Amino acid sequence: MLDTAWLAEEIKGTFPNVILKVNKKLDAYTYTRTGGPADVLLFPVSKEEVEEITKWTHEHKVPLTILGNSSNVIIRDGGIRGVVMILTELNGIKAEKNQLIVQSGAKLIDASKRALHEGLTGLEFACGIPGSVGGAVYMNAGAYGGEVKTVIKTVEVVTLKGERKVYENDDLEFNYRHTVLQETGDIVLETVFELEKGKKEKISAKMEELTELRTAKQPLEFPSCGSVFKRPTGYFTGKLIQEAGLQGKMWGGAQISTKHAGFIVNVNQASATDYIELIAYIKEVIFELFEVKLETEVRIIGEDAPKESDDFVAMGISS
Ligand SMILES: Cc1cc2nc3c(=O)[nH]c(=O)nc-3n(C[C@H](O)[C@H](O)[C@H](O)COP(=O)(O)OP(=O)(O)OC[C@H]3O[C@@H](n4cnc5c(N)ncnc54)[C@H](O)[C@@H]3O)c2cc1C
Repeated sequence: MLDTAWLAEEIKGTFPNVILKVNKKLDAYTYTRTGGPADVLLFPVSKEEVEEITKWTHEHKVPLTILGNSSNVIIRDGGIRGVVMILTELNGIKAEKNQLIVQSGAKLIDASKRALHEGLTGLEFACGIPGSVGGAVYMNAGAYGGEVKTVIKTVEVVTLKGERKVYENDDLEFNYRHTVLQETGDIVLETVFELEKGKKEKISAKMEELTELRTAKQPLEFPSCGSVFKRPTGYFTGKLIQEAGLQGKMWGGAQISTKHAGFIVNVNQASATDYIELIAYIKEVIFELFEVKLETEVRIIGEDAPKESDDFVAMGISS
């Protein structure tokens, strides 16, 4: 088992300036407001810091997990062992001619606002997606007919061994909510968006229209992880869940949203386990009724909380 105190001391010694928290619960960061603790949680502020920490974890065989804005993850209640890097402090945005050069922890929403400010069109669809740019690349995030794949020129990453690399758009194997990064585990450092000159009034009007649509349809007043499931070919997940009579179903503190059945909202101090069990239940019912296999869009990571009986065993007590 990994010794957290050792790990924290080693990292503090090697990276004295990095922002570090030990055994920190991640529910403070996730959009569902659920999730167990990270052994060692780091907030790098530069690409070099991300690169060096990644090299270090590779050399020391310490598990490494990357988070952006945590709007598409459920972290199990037992939390995450090893090092977790949250990249939200790496958030610079630069504009050069028709391009935006955006560091991975910047909010996609801020990138689309910056595009408006610069009179650049192409990122309007992203104005309400609450992820970071790194998370958006990793997920090929999209909305209202747009996807990040259509506006990405290049993506700079660091591999899990700590080597820098630049992907051209074509190399990223974009698909519906998929890029090759989901297989390689490469960490996004910076993305170049290629946009076009546009009229600010038109860009702004489009963003307002999409924001109104989102506010009308989505339960933004509650914590959630957005659409829980990918859209199955030929169906709409929300409609299937409604037709199954599941809308409004509670599971612990989690509920299938009464406003949008594709969302699970945290209405009463839900745990990650509530979310995960409700997801499993929905999948089972939908398969039984419609023979449709739902696949989660949300990424479920981390470890289950130890069961009480496991605690007794760990303490040398048997029942
Ligand atoms: C209310 C709400 C509405 C939403 N609406 C939409 C929508 O319209 N369209 C849509 O596509 N999504 C939507 N989402 C989901 C989510 O915002 C997107 O998937 C977003 O792209 C996730 O980015 P993130 O930074 O939050 O990623 P996280 O949740 O932090 O991470 C998601 C995955 O990406 C990986 N990752 C994160 N950063 C990096 C990085 N720098 N390098 C490599 N891997 C990384 C993580 O390891 C994890 O596996 C919504 C979510 C919410 C809560």
